[in-house]
Amino acid sequence: MMIRRLPACLLVFVLAAPLAFARSHADTPADTHTTARHAAARAAKEVPPPPSAYNDHPRLAIILVIDQFRGDYLDRWRADFKNHGFNLFLQKGAYFPDCYYDYANTKTAPGHATIGTGAYTDGHGISSNDWWDLARNQDRPVTSVEDERYRLVGEPDSSIPANQPGAPPTAAKYLTGSSPRNLLASTVGDELRLATQGQAKVYGVSLKDRAAILPAGAAANGAFWIDPASGSFVTSTFYMPQLPAWAAAFNTGGRIAQAEQEANAPANTTQFYNLVGRTPAANSYELDFAEALIQGEQLGQGDVTDMLTVSLSANDIIGHQVGPDSSDEHDMVDALDTQLDTFFTWLDKNIPGGLGNVWIALTADHGIAPVPATAAQYGLNAATWDLNKLSEALNYAINMKFSPGEKIDYILPHQELPYIALNPTEFLKAGIIEQEAEAAVQQLLPAAVASLTPGAPEPAPSDAPPAAPTADHPAPQPSDTRLPPRPVLFRSYTREQLATGAYPPTPWGELLAHSYSPNGGWYIMVIPAAYQMEVMSSARTTHFSPYSYDRHVPMGFYGAPFAPGIYHGRVQPVDIAATFAALLGINQPSASVGRILTQALLPADNVTYPKPKPTPPVRTHHPAAHQPAATNPAKPGTKTAAPAAPKATHP
Ligand SMILES: [Zn+2]
Repeated sequence: MMIRRLPACLLVFVLAAPLAFARSHADTPADTHTTARHAAARAAKEVPPPPSAYNDHPRLAIILVIDQFRGDYLDRWRADFKNHGFNLFLQKGAYFPDCYYDYANTKTAPGHATIGTGAYTDGHGISSNDWWDLARNQDRPVTSVEDERYRLVGEPDSSIPANQPGAPPTAAKYLTGSSPRNLLASTVGDELRLATQGQAKVYGVSLKDRAAILPAGAAANGAFWIDPASGSFVTSTFYMPQLPAWAAAFNTGGRIAQAEQEANAPANTTQFYNLVGRTPAANSYELDFAEALIQGEQLGQGDVTDMLTVSLSANDIIGHQVGPDSSDEHDMVDALDTQLDTFFTWLDKNIPGGLGNVWIALTADHGIAPVPATAAQYGLNAATWDLNKLSEALNYAINMKFSPGEKIDYILPHQELPYIALNPTEFLKAGIIEQEAEAAVQQLLPAAVASLTPGAPEPAPSDAPPAAPTADHPAPQPSDTRLPPRPVLFRSYTREQLATGAYPPTPWGELLAHSYSPNGGWYIMVIPAAYQMEVMSSARTTHFSPYSYDRHVPMGFYGAPFAPGIYHGRVQPVDIAATFAALLGINQPSASVGRILTQALLPADNVTYPKPKPTPPVRTHHPAAHQPAATNPAKPGTKTAAPAAPKATHP
């Protein structure tokens, strides 16, 4: 009767949404209205607010980044994994095996900025780990996060900065502090801070400053990384004037000595980053610091969601030295599997309600190329480029063109692919503007690359045959009749071309568009053929290119909203920030281009979180969950506790 009088569209609405109907027609004078009113009352009682950052669902969101971890590793070594390290994502979480960065500048700083901001370089501005900025420094490139307006905090007296007399070779490079000054987009952590009006706590941790700062963001409460010489955790006056008590206690509590011992490094080494950083001991060290931070800052204990980004650096330090196919790399991954299991177990015990109240995203900032000699054994044209020779050849050719007979350095020193930086001062002296200078260098580049004589192929790493030979599958050997690999230039783009958007309308063009930043002055973006890279004195392989092996990273999620499973199909690291923002009920970061991974999300009604055991209301006792692990010397800090909060009651 009443329903028959309704327009058809409303009829559909009524049938599809009886609850809404009941609410909106509760005052209708009909037989149904009493039932409807009851339904509405029931609904008001029974439908809880959706889980979000505002009701601390989850209590803690962690973005776990492994520095240099290629997307194929988890499949390649999957049979090794035990318990709930990587298996937390592979078996109990949503795992995306086909995650690729959609830009061409696969360096550490842009990777970490991308993970935090859900944007690429064209959105967040970070194009490389360092770049020339002659207005700020005439002697060397500036790093992506160094900031002379701030100073380091917590640097031990024993660590003399490199710009002071008597500095050890591995001392902190510069006295200056660090900040996200070059990060032009907000991070998901920044948005969480804004959305909760500062109630959410957000922190970043890594061995590297850029990897601690860039994923966490400008509004983060703090970011911590190590002094490379001593291994002490430091921060910058951008975040705080002094280390929190728990961090100072961690630095002096014997944990550095333990890490040195585990790494078989000399006690009190001044090369902590190199000697400990390249071993699994560095990952335990970092994860223990993360635990100290969670306790010290009481993450996961408040009424809103907190966030922590952890970037594990050790894999990158060893990875550059040995390459992806070495047994050392394999050992590092297996060790990390166990270390992650320990960390996740600790979280389960120490976050109220357990691991079910935590979200963890796992990814990496970039992949890695095979060692060129290894790739060459298979027949790939994996040449290495001598960038010093390339600069010499370019300088010679530019002088011939613009200043014959002179030896002007038109190319700046300290070059690192994929960029060749030009010296505007010298070009301008010769009356040449940027467009003309870049176009000239671009034109001279192919001949300069061709002049790089291929050297003798590098010996393959002794412990790393490309594959275990068997009777059926003998290991490939370089053919006696095959020529050595030779440098090949695939493409080059001037800054001017990139800035004006002269890209092909293809996926390749998108990679380039996503890579653009005005940082770095005048430059050419140089893309060698696949598997080629620069010659490095201290490394066997690297990452910087638009090729799949540099762009492929793992992506996995663990947490209540995620439907466990393996999800094939292209996804991108920018999707992490977008998905977390959506699930937290906050704005996506300011330049986010990520997609929400709806294919892996449970219906909101099915998402439940464990109820934490009620804690005693008396504030003069820390619950047992706050007690530090046996191996962890840090004490809960007082920074975020109420003013009357007492000292920790544990020993
Ligand atoms: Zn990296």
